Amino acid sequence: MLTNYLKFLDYLMGNLNKYFTLQAPYIKCAKGCAKCCSNGDYPFSEMEIKLLQIGFDKLDEDTKNIILKKIDSIKKEKTNFKGEGSFTYACPFLINNICSVYDYRGIICRTFGLIYIKEGSDKMQIPFCAYDGLNYSNVLDKEKGILSEEKMKALGLTEEPKAYNIHYNFVTSKRVGEAFNFDYGRRGSLIDLLSDNPKFSLKDK
Ligand code: SF4
Repeated sequence: MLTNYLKFLDYLMGNLNKYFTLQAPYIKCAKGCAKCCSNGDYPFSEMEIKLLQIGFDKLDEDTKNIILKKIDSIKKEKTNFKGEGSFTYACPFLINNICSVYDYRGIICRTFGLIYIKEGSDKMQIPFCAYDGLNYSNVLDKEKGILSEEKMKALGLTEEPKAYNIHYNFVTSKRVGEAFNFDYGRRGSLIDLLSDNPKFSLKDK
């Protein structure tokens, strides 16, 4: 199962690398930028957690302990959360603005940053980091939440960037798993899946 998921990841990354290259004029992703890992809910599946666990196992003991303590504290914060909206947090695997399990990261970590469409909709979805001066900010009309033709023209860009069908729900759909002969398993927020996995519990250390 994991072998087939890895084959799928190779295929996905081949496409994503192409997309990021084609959209280079709009992309500001760089090492040390961790906007997308600093405040979110991070949808994950059991299959993605399996891979993450392999990356975690390769870390040194000190780093593992830092991560386990972060997980423990996020779990407590989530239990006590009484705010409005959904609970968000910095990913526990983010250390000094660098992903400690980069090669083993999840699907959402890989697809984030590109404009996308949701299946069945024509509406372009712009990544939230555009509003913080990052990807696509050079062509964003902030007030309208759309891409600005004037800004594109000023940059000599004649075509709108293509929006790809890379929404998390599609990429992790049963259909995609079946095509590559694996099952994503249960899905949920990263912190919930980690909480249910004894490997990521401080008590088990
Ligand atoms: S696993 Fe890594 S890339 Fe994904 S959200 Fe966490 S720190 Fe970011």
